Amino acid sequence: MTTLKGIPAAPGIAMGKALLFHSESLAIPRRSITTPEISLEVLRLEEALIKTRHQILDIQKRLAEELGQDHADILNAHLLVLEDQALREEIIQGLKVQLVNVEVIFDEVVQRHLKAFSRTQDEYLRERTADIEDVRKRVLRNLLNKQATTLAQLEEPVIVVARDLSPSETAQMHRRHVLAFVTDIGGRTSHTAIMAKSLEIPAVVGLAVATKRIQKGELIIVDGTRGDVLVEPDPAAIKHYELEQRRNQEVSRQLLHLKDLPAETLDRHAVTLSANIELPDEVPSVIAHGADGIGLFRTEFLYLNRSDFPTEEEQYQAYASVAEQLKPHPVIIRTMDLGGDKFLSPLQFPTEMNPFLGWRAIRFSLARPDIFRIQLRAILRASVHGNLKLMYPMISGLEELRRANEILGEVQQELTREGVPYAKDMEVGAMIEVPSAALMCDLLAPEVQFFSIGTNDLIQYALAVDRVNEKIAYLYEPTHPAILRLIKRIIDVGHAAKLWVGMCGEMAGEPALSLLLLGMGLDEFSTSPVQLPIVKQVIRSVEHSFAQSVVEQALKLRTGKEVEAFLLATLKQVAPVLVE
Ligand code: PEP
Ligand code: MG
Repeated sequence: MTTLKGIPAAPGIAMGKALLFHSESLAIPRRSITTPEISLEVLRLEEALIKTRHQILDIQKRLAEELGQDHADILNAHLLVLEDQALREEIIQGLKVQLVNVEVIFDEVVQRHLKAFSRTQDEYLRERTADIEDVRKRVLRNLLNKQATTLAQLEEPVIVVARDLSPSETAQMHRRHVLAFVTDIGGRTSHTAIMAKSLEIPAVVGLAVATKRIQKGELIIVDGTRGDVLVEPDPAAIKHYELEQRRNQEVSRQLLHLKDLPAETLDRHAVTLSANIELPDEVPSVIAHGADGIGLFRTEFLYLNRSDFPTEEEQYQAYASVAEQLKPHPVIIRTMDLGGDKFLSPLQFPTEMNPFLGWRAIRFSLARPDIFRIQLRAILRASVHGNLKLMYPMISGLEELRRANEILGEVQQELTREGVPYAKDMEVGAMIEVPSAALMCDLLAPEVQFFSIGTNDLIQYALAVDRVNEKIAYLYEPTHPAILRLIKRIIDVGHAAKLWVGMCGEMAGEPALSLLLLGMGLDEFSTSPVQLPIVKQVIRSVEHSFAQSVVEQALKLRTGKEVEAFLLATLKQVAPVLVE
């Protein structure tokens, strides 16, 4: 048995036979042409491009029907490649110079671009190579009149093992036939990962060696929650995961009766359980899992994979629709967090050595107030349709917070002048996800109505561990004593300043950790919808004073491992159904 460690992309456990999915290699014949034949080759290219366009539009249509328009829009990047005029001209030039068939030239030109993209430091551009590669194969197949082997044609349930999967390939999967998928490359925030979560297909990405270590037909177990892939598991492992699968089913069953019960301890200490979303069409899942609202709407996803910016009207529609559907529950809209690992090509971000430490989130918004104001106007206008709150990402000091609030004030005045209604009492909060903000949150508190702790970033910045680098993932410890102390401080300081304090990082959805956070007095837990019943189960299993004693003991421990072991043992006592 071998265990491969990757990046958890979509939760759940699956067990099944491996199917190695090679996006097939296409043999390209080479033949000479004469100058008069150039126009014929150009015509063949145009026809193949049109055919490819129709095929992509068909997939988009299916995606829009099954998952919603926002997911279909992810394929807009493919359409942009097809429309690239410069690429066409490069191909025509190549035809004139080399006088060979268009397949050869097309492949050469696209491969050249792919090579340049894959060498760049820019994470966004690197991730786009998957889109271009997808388009390359589609166009070549159409030029060569070949049928694609697609994941839509699978006839029995398998686990797909691939070097990488493009969003369009992922979109072709059916839960009936694809039990799970694993890939060599890819990050947690790639669109493929997002698509997997929406389809509720367990997935592990960034395994580096999956296609080398796994043979066709081998039995594998995918743990999409932890990021583990077991190849040819031994009987003990199979038993363990079968139990875990059953436990998961048991938890899902409990969801039925937990859904409408409050998130409160045995002695009635109540907390708010909210959900995180990336796109508006995830709202039905939020409601189905019984959330008390949305604690984080990652609005930057509205800006990705498109050639223009979302207009004020478009954003207004998106925010208003989410607000309406969740009303009277709150919806916390985070202003765009672009940069880091989420780049937007039309802005032509410079390649940065350390994008997570660079021109990201509120830094970008303050540098581009023209774009920021449009988003603020849309949020304010939507605020009359429900219970909206707003928060800024990546605040690192007081000036940033003050400047953001100043711009918000100006936009509010502008709307008042125009006679446009908005909720005057909309709460404004700061994400606390930069260590400097955590350490000086007493100074930030007077300028906001709430804090939301972003542990995904707080951990990476406080421990100096890149959150998307699988090589140092072992150092990424939510239970690290430094992290515990930072979080406790933020909650204590927030409460002393009469603010409510939430958490929207992944940590809030971890059952063992939620016990600790409950004891620290966290007011709101926001996590992906599927984790909500699990956290609710933990909260409803204990008295608040018990959770407080857990905090006291955890703070006496000296390493992250010790804290983790202690919390898991405690969880086993109070909610055995959630632990093996
Ligand atoms: C976080 O950093 O914890 C967070 C919730 O924001 P994101 O994951 O979008 O950076
Ligand atoms: Mg963050």
